[in-house]
Amino acid sequence: MQTLPRIPATVRISPFDAGGAGHGRLLVEAGERSFLVSPAAAALIAALRDSGEVEHVREVMAQAQGLPPTEAEIAQAIERLPRTLFTPDAESEPDRLFLFRWPLIGDRQIGRWAATLQGLFEVRVVTLVISVAVALVGAALVTERFGVVPGLGSVGESLAVFALLVLSALAHELGHAAACVRLGVQPGQVGAGIYAIFPVLYIDVSRAWRLPAQARALVDVGGMYFQLLVILLLVPLLAWEPTRHVAGTVIAFNAGWVLFNLNPVFKMDGYWLLADLTGTPNLQQRAFRYLGSLVTSRASRRPEGTRRERVIYVGYGLLVLGYLGIVVSSAPGWFARYLLPGVTASATAWRDVAAAWAGSGWGDVLVRALQAAGQSLLVGLPVLVFLLLVGRSVATLGRAFLAR
Ligand SMILES: [Zn+2]
Repeated sequence: MQTLPRIPATVRISPFDAGGAGHGRLLVEAGERSFLVSPAAAALIAALRDSGEVEHVREVMAQAQGLPPTEAEIAQAIERLPRTLFTPDAESEPDRLFLFRWPLIGDRQIGRWAATLQGLFEVRVVTLVISVAVALVGAALVTERFGVVPGLGSVGESLAVFALLVLSALAHELGHAAACVRLGVQPGQVGAGIYAIFPVLYIDVSRAWRLPAQARALVDVGGMYFQLLVILLLVPLLAWEPTRHVAGTVIAFNAGWVLFNLNPVFKMDGYWLLADLTGTPNLQQRAFRYLGSLVTSRASRRPEGTRRERVIYVGYGLLVLGYLGIVVSSAPGWFARYLLPGVTASATAWRDVAAAWAGSGWGDVLVRALQAAGQSLLVGLPVLVFLLLVGRSVATLGRAFLAR
């Protein structure tokens, strides 16, 4: 049996007096949440909090139910406990930009794939991958040879780009899953959803909250690490003219997605990485509340904290400003280099639609219209991401600093 998940010492259990209504139940307080549980469940919670030893838990459960439980029964009983008990400090405010979720691939299948892929986290492999990536970036900078203006060519190429982007997204989620398995935690299911306006894949890694924060950091970077692997696999295709454009477009998208993912503003992988490496749950909320109280000099609202925490809050604030600075200042150059050619290509594609409309049959018009729409999306999506990033940052900063 794997080690049992521990419940932190901060979880409190006390008798619950409800004048008869909750008779015999106990009050369990974890962070800002509280639960009423049966005496047996309270005993289990106490056992997981005080020792976590399998034997100790077995004894406690044997006393409660009369028979010593099997390992499966222990696992089941633990599974029935509220998740927050294990992670009372977990981020309490979910990202409201996540609008819809649909499950796609079950946790068993994900677990199997992740088990096969977890070897990619071996130190030797990681060292090799990072060395190759650094060498490639260096070579690209020196020779300026890998630059491909992202765009959709023929219908076949467009479909290839789309398929490879979906596979890249799946690879990213499997990266999180493989990191979980590596650390002895079962990953959850993969689903599709809408984040703000963007279709995305997501994975349920809530069980990773049972890990110590520093170990969770591996789960945080796992997705981006696997995307880096996808990029490296595609690089050789840049050398071959027929695949150059598709590979270049997919690489550009993946690289851009990783950079976006690293942003400290949204609760995406970069933010979790930061929160876990510094061991600061609710980092954003706490940091902005602290910085806001500094700026508006409302000392009464200032959260208490150790010197280390205050350094982390200020560091986080500087990082947010720095990231925004880089994004905004590099935008004009980036627009000129990648976006203008894309806009031109879009315009041409739409002109082709018009020409086909005047001449050839419906099939041709439809194909060209689809291509033109795809091309426009390729240009429009990064612009939307940029606007969303800046807009959200301004709103977040504003809420933090102007809050009453
Ligand atoms: Zn991720």
